[in-house]
Amino acid sequence: MSADEKVRVRFAPSPTGKLHLGSARTALFNWLFARGRSGVLVLRLEDTDPERSSSEFERDIIGSLHWMGLDWDEGPDVGGEYGPYRQSERMDLYREHADRLLETGRAYRCFCTAEELDARRKAAIAEGRAWRYDRVCTGLGEADAAGRAAAGEPFALRFRVPEQVIIIDDMLRGAVEVDSHEIDDFIIMRSDGTAGFHLAVVVDDFTMGITHVIRGDDHLTNAARHVLLFEAFGAPTPRFLHHSLLMGKDGGKLSKRHGSTAVSDYREKGYLPVALTNYLALLSWAPGDDRELFSLGQLVDEFGIEGVSASKAIFDVDKLNWLNRQHMKALSDSELTDLVIPFLQAEGRTALLGLPRVRLEVAVASVRNGMETLVDAVEPMDIYARPAGEISAKALAELRKSGELDEALRLCVEALRSESSDDMETAERIVARLRGEAKERGWGAKKVLWPFRLAVTGLTVGPDLVYLIMFWGPGGCADRIEASMPALEGSLG
Ligand code: GLU
Repeated sequence: MSADEKVRVRFAPSPTGKLHLGSARTALFNWLFARGRSGVLVLRLEDTDPERSSSEFERDIIGSLHWMGLDWDEGPDVGGEYGPYRQSERMDLYREHADRLLETGRAYRCFCTAEELDARRKAAIAEGRAWRYDRVCTGLGEADAAGRAAAGEPFALRFRVPEQVIIIDDMLRGAVEVDSHEIDDFIIMRSDGTAGFHLAVVVDDFTMGITHVIRGDDHLTNAARHVLLFEAFGAPTPRFLHHSLLMGKDGGKLSKRHGSTAVSDYREKGYLPVALTNYLALLSWAPGDDRELFSLGQLVDEFGIEGVSASKAIFDVDKLNWLNRQHMKALSDSELTDLVIPFLQAEGRTALLGLPRVRLEVAVASVRNGMETLVDAVEPMDIYARPAGEISAKALAELRKSGELDEALRLCVEALRSESSDDMETAERIVARLRGEAKERGWGAKKVLWPFRLAVTGLTVGPDLVYLIMFWGPGGCADRIEASMPALEGSLG
């Protein structure tokens, strides 16, 4: 590619499943490469398998990519000069190109049926021979083959693999050499008239002007076939970069048995998109220093795909969780509240959603330290929806055990009633005063603060008292303590 040629890369998922973390990493690499070089990113949907492709998966892929903060310049949803961008809509183009190869003798008709191929494959295996297409149909004369085709006999088109050493120019691995003997005459058009995977990819890549192909190294063996096709079409071969695949901790390709693999699952669990993109980038790359937190914008500036390691990338959810916590820490209470609200909605927490915004922010602030993901806010926040005076059996038992309960609760109510602001400073002053009162009586602070918590919340666990006071206000907390009194009948003097 010449220096002034514009970088054009593509992300080419098959909509046969939700966007997998591994594919999301490929998409991120392509996006970073395009954005870092003022290039163009194309989204191409490889939906040639009608049985397995669905519009639901297509929506999941597009939605997940957008959620990650990635965008593209051309694609099925945004259009572009090189469309259509769904392979199912490009079949005529593939047929034309396949015919060109047939005309020039680079491809030939194969009339072998699936049953015949299967029988020969089994025989080869039984004899301990490696199976590859045995070129039975290469020997057919053109007149004979054309006659059979004209008579309606179904046939596939196979590429005639030339004898040569194939060189894959890979940006990570250098020049990878493959002997074409290792490759059989692969199918470029199936007998049902649909294009084979390799033909579709290559025709798309050169008709879309793709300059760099960045994808997982599971496609490295395919790349040899692709190089042959580019050459057969007289098209420029793009530069390749085959990155390592995402693996589970056991070294196997990351799959459902390792846990969730879909980006949308992580979205639903409450991960921040920036934590996920940060994590996917860091899996095989590190900056020259010890920084670990990167926004997408910082990655555009600093991440160099040529610098990623070709060795295995092992998915470690603990590291992702750590990054998620770090990115959450960087958010203000208000920003975090905005992100928590959809989770309260999804979980049907209408009472909490009806709270004034300031209260909601206090509630979120009070639970944020314990959160690993956004969804972790929901259950702890339920404490704020509890009606006054409703005391759990466990809290009641604790209250009944508490010595000098009368006096302790009286001190709490008095301290609370002496204040009216619900800011943090006031709340801290109330707690400090209660500690002081306890000390004056030769008590541990717990003797006052524990019944405070139990009576106000009706529970034995919950956020720091300071937040409880800020949430309900000093007067509101005093009211809640008084509302608990009937349940304590018999324990109070
Ligand atoms: N559709 C292929 C996949 O989802 C990608 C093909 C390519 O990038 O060349 O694995």
